[in-house]
Amino acid sequence: MFRRSIYKTPAQLQSMIEPGLITAAALDAVRPLIRAGVTTLELDTIANRTIRARGAESNFQLVRGYHHTICVSVNQEVVHGIPGDHVLQPGDIVSVDCGAQFKGWNGDSAITVVVPDEARPSLVAMREELSRVTEGSMWAGIAAMASADYIGDIGAAIQEYIEAQGVSEVSGETYGILREYVGHGIGRKMHEAPSVFNYRTPDPGPEVKPGLVLAIEPMVTAGGEATFIEDDDWTVSTVDGTDGSHWEHSVARHEDGIWVLTVPDGGAAGLAPFGIVPTPPA
Ligand code: MG
Ligand code: MG
Repeated sequence: MFRRSIYKTPAQLQSMIEPGLITAAALDAVRPLIRAGVTTLELDTIANRTIRARGAESNFQLVRGYHHTICVSVNQEVVHGIPGDHVLQPGDIVSVDCGAQFKGWNGDSAITVVVPDEARPSLVAMREELSRVTEGSMWAGIAAMASADYIGDIGAAIQEYIEAQGVSEVSGETYGILREYVGHGIGRKMHEAPSVFNYRTPDPGPEVKPGLVLAIEPMVTAGGEATFIEDDDWTVSTVDGTDGSHWEHSVARHEDGIWVLTVPDGGAAGLAPFGIVPTPPA
């Protein structure tokens, strides 16, 4: 059977720029609405409207059995939460995952936001720390992709970053990294080979070289790594009830370096602490 190469051509990388930017625009539209009193379905509506206004479609709706544009996961939910009539509360930690397909190519990205709560500053601070650790680990993984020889180097960098954070103020434990859910290749389909583990693995995996496009997406908890699927058959929650956070970008490695497709600056701000300057694919 013919298997599509996991490495894209320069022309194919160009085709992935616009779906990445549309995905970024959808999350930019959702971000300011993540506040108390807003339902998770309202976030979904805004994301869908933004994607359609740019002539694209929701690739989440192309996933069998899924009918929404985003996944929205609140507090102990880590990923795959379904939008609905749930009303966001002060202090909630909210992860939003979104993707767009444009002219047959895909983007995939996720953010985490903590809803302000003036009455509970310590709760907000701890949840913001969890989000910051998760986002930082994503950027560490993206930075590793710039020089990695193998995909396994990315997971090792993510795990090292999280372990270097030490003990969570929330649980008194080290942060947990989800094991059953991982990043992936992306291109014609939102989910393609290879898997991108968020931790060290014995097998280094495929080579990182020009044309590789990966969705790098650490899913981190303020406690244990064990999760279960809620009765809705989608939502992934922590067994110990601790908070979860999820950050994701779609990233291209090309002849001249790396470029983060799902943020307008190509990752310049996120990569600056690692001394890496992203370059747009030529
Ligand atoms: Mg995603
Ligand atoms: Mg993904």
